[in-house]
Amino acid sequence: MQRTFSLIVLFLVVTLLSFAAAWQVQIAWGAEGDTTKKEAKMDSTKKVVKSEEEWKKELTPEQYRILRQAGTERAFTGALNDLYDPGLYRCGACGAPLFRSDTKYDHGSGWPSFTEPITAGAIEYRDDNTYGMSRVEVRCAACGSHLGHVFDDGPGPNGKHYCINSASMKFEKATQATGPQKATFAAGCFWGVELKLSQVPGVLSTRVGYTGGHTKSPTYEEVCTDETGHAEAVEVTYDPTKVSYEKLLDTFFNLHDPTQIDRQGPDIGAQYRSAIFYHSAAQELAASATVKKLNASGKYRRPLATQVVPADTFYPAEEYHQKYYQKRGKQGCGI
Ligand SMILES: [Zn+2]
Repeated sequence: MQRTFSLIVLFLVVTLLSFAAAWQVQIAWGAEGDTTKKEAKMDSTKKVVKSEEEWKKELTPEQYRILRQAGTERAFTGALNDLYDPGLYRCGACGAPLFRSDTKYDHGSGWPSFTEPITAGAIEYRDDNTYGMSRVEVRCAACGSHLGHVFDDGPGPNGKHYCINSASMKFEKATQATGPQKATFAAGCFWGVELKLSQVPGVLSTRVGYTGGHTKSPTYEEVCTDETGHAEAVEVTYDPTKVSYEKLLDTFFNLHDPTQIDRQGPDIGAQYRSAIFYHSAAQELAASATVKKLNASGKYRRPLATQVVPADTFYPAEEYHQKYYQKRGKQGCGI
């Protein structure tokens, strides 16, 4: 009798282990799928398409020659060569963010030099075999305009040296915020995220909505399909004299798990991704610095999946999603 009982227990244990193994495999497959999907989304830079006639009207003759005809300014003549103020370097043609001031350095070549682009998807690379040289040309991924070249003699760990024309860029200085400011965050189901951000002293108002996707005025049902590219997000209006953007970043990172890719706990899909939508050069620099600091801190076992991307049109969600927990007298879903 005891022998039969032992056999039954053994059978149950083996069955349970088989199920667990199959589940693990499924999780591993799921994780791989998520990564591929995220990489595809990260590369989906919004394209700016204009005719050469339109570019000619918008740009100065010097900008047009360099940006649209792959020209080069004379060394040591560019306005941005000796600039080291904190801020963002944007495409001189379409305005897309390209480089961050903390990656700029003096290479001594006479052109602005950077160790890396602001995001991998911001730049496009092409082989350039003109003038009897073999070089790699870099272009703005959003509008295809010529920026300069990238070489392998840079000072950083990746050894890259992005050698960029001043005339190909415009500089946005990081300035001290005055008056009410906006900040936009995505960290999973927006009900709980709104509740927690609204409780930070200095936050004047909050609203939930959809942003970062490619469809206009999406509904909740559309965003739930994970086909719109939009994230469930919270737009915060805050008083920078009462609460710093860094404090909002702290709250944002502490209210969710920023290492999860395209999900937050039981909510799965890119609409639940972790993202910071920055409204200014100062916000971008603060957000990127915090991501870097947290990655280096050892606080998380996996690298952060949080995207730091420019703020886009914010579509407010349906009224019944606004202040969802406050209306129901709940304290949140414990995300
Ligand atoms: Zn551009």
